[in-house]
Amino acid sequence: MMNLSIIVPVYNEQDSLEELVRQIDASLVESSLSYEVVFIDDGSTDESWKRIVELANSHPNRLGIRFRRNFGKAAALSAGFEYATGSVFVTMDADLQDDPTEIKRLLAKINEGFDCVSGWKQRRNDPWHKVYPSLVFNWMITRLTGVALHDHNCGLKAYRREIFKEVQIYGEMHRFIPVLAAARGFRVSEIVVNHRPRTTGQSKYGFERFAKGFLDLLTVCFLTSFRYRPQHLLGTAGIGLFAIGTLGLIWLSFLWCVSRVFTFMSPIHLHERAVFYFAIVAMLLGIQLLSLGFLAELITAVTRSSSSPFAISDTTKITPS
Ligand code: UDP
Ligand code: MG
Repeated sequence: MMNLSIIVPVYNEQDSLEELVRQIDASLVESSLSYEVVFIDDGSTDESWKRIVELANSHPNRLGIRFRRNFGKAAALSAGFEYATGSVFVTMDADLQDDPTEIKRLLAKINEGFDCVSGWKQRRNDPWHKVYPSLVFNWMITRLTGVALHDHNCGLKAYRREIFKEVQIYGEMHRFIPVLAAARGFRVSEIVVNHRPRTTGQSKYGFERFAKGFLDLLTVCFLTSFRYRPQHLLGTAGIGLFAIGTLGLIWLSFLWCVSRVFTFMSPIHLHERAVFYFAIVAMLLGIQLLSLGFLAELITAVTRSSSSPFAISDTTKITPS
């Protein structure tokens, strides 16, 4: 088994791959670590795959995986985690923005006892329209999930292999591996890493990443807090709305009775009151949410693997010797 697998997702990065491998080798040449570099070509349309084949043919510790089309960075990383044989995985971008000399520092932090170590591009060499939204985004993730990292989206991260027995990623969830890992009890930390400007190729992400990222964040919050008890979220909101609607109708009924008893008051017509409609909508929505909660509980109950918040691999067993 290798000590270390360096996993590199590649999408149209033909000009940086050779230099990246050179820098990785240079940074690890003096260490006694056995390592492999796993490239995943995420459906590139340039010469990237050709470069990967050349690199893989020239050294036994280089591996190439190719997607038939572009499936996205999370899928590329997942394929890498599947094929990698190391006990520790380091992910890094292919565009030379991540500095391979940081790999050793990430490993040192893992050896302090952490399961996941994230890079923090404290001095980030990207355009302002990436840097500032990213600050807000990171602050939001930290507040909502309680996992205090400065740079959740950093491509340079290290993980112990065990994490991926518990955490599966899909869509664009690769940004949230530390959050999902922390929710399963893994220890997460960060170190400041060097970040370089992109000198070859083009960035694959624009502003739309933040919109998608926000939706993913909501999903992650839901999954980490309510995956095994969805009715607690949906049912609470449902009962709350139903109660508000009921109170509205009680209030209107009271007014209606009073106007009947005291004939000097002008009579109340329910359909002329806005509260009447709001109350009915609230009650209907409340019932809808409750039913949705029961459906979600049903799904949780029938998928056996997800009905228990822990997996056997989450546990450590000690037997008396
Ligand atoms: N990437 C990928 N598939 C995609 C988009 C990006 O494998 O669909 C890779 C890309 O080749 C690079 C890394 O993900 O190695 C990060 O992408 P990029 O540098 O464009 O992101 P940025 O640094 O601009 O946030
Ligand atoms: Mg980049």
